[in-house]
Amino acid sequence: MRWTLLTLLSLTLLAGCDQPGPETDNGEAAAKEVNVYSARKEALIQPLLDRFTEKTGTEVNLITGGADALIERMESEGEHSPADLLLTVDAGRLYRARQADLLQKADSETLRNAVPEQYRHPEGYWHGLSVRSRVLVVAPDRVPANAPSRYADLADERWQDRICIRSSNNIYNQSLVASLIAHKGEEATEQWARGLVENMARSPQGGDRDQILAVANDLCDIAVVNTYYLAMMHNSDDQTQREAAEQVALRWPNQNDRGAHVNISGAGVARHAPHPEQARALLEFLVNDESQQWYAEVNNEYPVKEDVAISETLREWGDYKADDLPLVRLGENNDKAVRLMDRAGWQ
Ligand code: FE
Repeated sequence: MRWTLLTLLSLTLLAGCDQPGPETDNGEAAAKEVNVYSARKEALIQPLLDRFTEKTGTEVNLITGGADALIERMESEGEHSPADLLLTVDAGRLYRARQADLLQKADSETLRNAVPEQYRHPEGYWHGLSVRSRVLVVAPDRVPANAPSRYADLADERWQDRICIRSSNNIYNQSLVASLIAHKGEEATEQWARGLVENMARSPQGGDRDQILAVANDLCDIAVVNTYYLAMMHNSDDQTQREAAEQVALRWPNQNDRGAHVNISGAGVARHAPHPEQARALLEFLVNDESQQWYAEVNNEYPVKEDVAISETLREWGDYKADDLPLVRLGENNDKAVRLMDRAGWQ
């Protein structure tokens, strides 16, 4: 009963763009559309989907929402789910969707050639579309040029009451901690988390932009944020945001060892996709050079595909060394990370 209502609701929501023509067993009618469940905001993906329709004649029906809500919805809809492609902004959530058996393999030469191994599921259940790094943002007048230079330094008592970071229920922080567990083990990472909690200037609140604003406003000296938030603030229409971004400095962590922690936005073909061929075609379209450039530029992210141009703001920041940890490990270590942060008192 529950899924029936949800399915009806989904069909109603999709009905606006859905040509209800006869569905045939050989999928001829199905060839004209594809349904995307996206945790990425409409403005940041719709123009690309329009371009796909223009090029292929396949209509794209977009439903946006929080990743966890979309995953729950796919679970409730079960085999009747209209979802063809699930798009999220974190590898950890794609991993959850795979664990819940909501995705199917979409392996192809095009995808393998475009997306480096590190940024896709080893068996092709999901693929990265763009890359972001979680970096340090500092007040250059209050923090020396040579420190902190690693995530590990954030636990140093030197930074007592000087660090701002958002809450532990945020998936970006969970993925950062999951990467530290992969590199350093659980015990050392828990020690680190305890030190970091000691050094927090305030109890975690707000999003990444709020941490940058807090550094600019002298509430703390160091923040941990995703690269695109700083880039978006630099390019913001809002003067306060722009000025805050100009007052802080970006520090790439761990450049002398393993590299800065990175994560992806990415997508996977739904397990019960009514249009799996179209879903794979869309995925392949999203990793072609033109899409990669647009997608990365508009979101101020790094393309997953090599040799694709990046935005001017990112170019100004220069090259950086990225951690080469396979991102599937972020998902594997997510439960451990959440429990560890809780034990360490990270709110
Ligand atoms: Fe984000």
